[in-house]
Amino acid sequence: MRNRLPLFAASWNRICHLVWRLFWPSVCHLTVVVALCWASFALADGFPKGRWVDLSHDFADDTLYWPTADKFHKDTVFAGETDKGYYYSAYNLAAAEHGGTHVDAPVHFGRGQQSVDQIPLQQLIGPAVVIRVAGQIPQAGKGANRNYLISVADIERWEQQHGKIEKDTIVLFDTGSAQYWPDPVKYLGTAERGKAAVDKLNFPGLSPEAAIFLADERGIKAVGLDTPSIDYGASKLFKAHRELFKRNVPALENVTNLQALPEKGFTLIALPMKIRGGSGGPTRVVGFIPED
Ligand SMILES: [Zn+2]
Repeated sequence: MRNRLPLFAASWNRICHLVWRLFWPSVCHLTVVVALCWASFALADGFPKGRWVDLSHDFADDTLYWPTADKFHKDTVFAGETDKGYYYSAYNLAAAEHGGTHVDAPVHFGRGQQSVDQIPLQQLIGPAVVIRVAGQIPQAGKGANRNYLISVADIERWEQQHGKIEKDTIVLFDTGSAQYWPDPVKYLGTAERGKAAVDKLNFPGLSPEAAIFLADERGIKAVGLDTPSIDYGASKLFKAHRELFKRNVPALENVTNLQALPEKGFTLIALPMKIRGGSGGPTRVVGFIPED
């Protein structure tokens, strides 16, 4: 028994060596496979850490629309217990394209320009900035003229503090109007509906000069305001719309929560309902602020 032990040990060494040589390549392959899987999981889970901000109003009976546009309607098809013993709910929706938080597609004011389904996804996703002009606009109230026009000077003042707006930026303006939502008198200037009410609209907007400056001098992707329209309430010719849309720069209207965003250093994502040939559509707009 004693002299058999070294023999056994020698054989065992040989067996181990053989097993090692046979399986080592497989172990290497396995290591590579595990590493690749881990890397892909890390990527899948690797969306930058940060905070999401909802910049959209919800759609409901009190959602504000242009005085001549159909309002949001939600009719119940069914809501309750079925005779099969489970809960079920479904609704029919109807609304104008332009109301609530929405995108204006370039075709809204430009024949042959992009419709809402034709706006490239990357046009409404990207680095964004907020330019705050609320301090220059009178608060809503009796007799207040809120038809302020955001000027090139307002943009340049922001740039002096935060640097030049880079190409392909989405530019948002905080006019302080979102605080009045959904009060039609304070937000739109009137609670009246119909054609005659259009003359009573009273809210801030973008000057045509500022629209041209942003599109031509800064090459922005899109623009957004916390008001019912890119043009101010008293506008009759909608020049800011026309100048932007001529250049295929879409506009976001009725955005909210802009005070929750930093002036710069965040990403905006706006995904409008994909209405074929539509001139605009309800949109979920969100901001993403990455962690430092
Ligand atoms: Zn619109």
